[in-house]
Amino acid sequence: MSLPIYLIGARGCGKTTVGQALALTLGYDFCDTDHYLQQSRQKTVAEIVAIEGWSGFRAYETESLKAVTAVSKVIATGGGMVLAEENRLYMREHGRVIYLNADALVLAARLEAYPLADQRPTLTGRPVAEEMVEVLAIRDALYQQAAHHIIDAMQTPDAVVNQIVSSLSLARA
Ligand code: ADP
Ligand code: MG
Repeated sequence: MSLPIYLIGARGCGKTTVGQALALTLGYDFCDTDHYLQQSRQKTVAEIVAIEGWSGFRAYETESLKAVTAVSKVIATGGGMVLAEENRLYMREHGRVIYLNADALVLAARLEAYPLADQRPTLTGRPVAEEMVEVLAIRDALYQQAAHHIIDAMQTPDAVVNQIVSSLSLARA
């Protein structure tokens, strides 16, 4: 059965870039929990956080995870999806979970080079590199805990896709 593939990792690790390429390679659909959430609420992440706080946003995030889950789908998740144990267990139970792992400084450099690639407000308002070090210090263990496979996301996107496909022993479309 073509179980859903969940991509987890911090902002900038390549969930969208790699996820779209992986979906093409496998002939799967692609979706992004943040996009789904924003469309279903008709608000941006920043607006939801401003109105309902991060806890409100996190509740919609769990809802979105469940709503988008389907077979033959690559699902790019929000960077904070793993914070809730419920989400970690749900992903492990319903599909295969891939952690796109990259150093904080690599992530920061990507986000600084393409500031519009991710429209989320920064969590702390501090410099991106500093924030990334801090965020990963907290989340890396959760990403590792949730993941079935940990992939080095500092390779080219094509190499990352190839490694995911072989680690899951899946056939190309
Ligand atoms: P995420 O969805 O995890 O936040 P994105 O896919 O939006 O990450 O990637 C963030 C930025 O980093 C984009 O500008 C993208 O082009 C770049 N990027 C993503 N993956 C790689 C990679 N493997 N090598 C180099 N740049 C990458
Ligand atoms: Mg993304």
